[in-house]
Amino acid sequence: MAINIKKLREMEGKAVVVDELYHVTAPEQLFIVRGSVLVQGYATHRQRSIFLDVRIRATAVQQCSRCLADVVSPLDWEEHLEFQPEEDGDLLEREAFTYSLEETELSLQPYLVGLIESVLDPKPLCKPDCKGLCPVCGQDLNYGECGCDRRREGDPRLQILKELLT
Ligand SMILES: [Zn+2]
Ligand SMILES: [Zn+2]
Repeated sequence: MAINIKKLREMEGKAVVVDELYHVTAPEQLFIVRGSVLVQGYATHRQRSIFLDVRIRATAVQQCSRCLADVVSPLDWEEHLEFQPEEDGDLLEREAFTYSLEETELSLQPYLVGLIESVLDPKPLCKPDCKGLCPVCGQDLNYGECGCDRRREGDPRLQILKELLT
């Protein structure tokens, strides 16, 4: 069941049920969406705006910012969005949510990558104490020491101390 703009207009001021499934493909360096994205709630047409009050559920997979392992995040959150007709575009901020007066349906598709990104941690960790990869040989240090001499790349605070002492 799509979000039908004509029907919303006829029901001016009344909440209409939204129950949508989307498939989202994000740029790979951002995240991967596993399965579909479920959007459920209500849409209301008021004056010239369409208001969406929805609950969004999705599963996102990112890479750990230290060791690159998969970080799976089940997401479940609420959004309260106002869509305005596209022809008012000049007056709106660039980030605004719009719908086209020529279209019969309102789609969340163009906005889902941004919405999901907004609730994800930009620097996810597979676990709070992830040891990351060895900068010398690339071994995942969560699985044990590689034996590399990493002292040269060590703590910059120690480096400053060393310079002060010499
Ligand atoms: Zn990690
Ligand atoms: Zn190493």
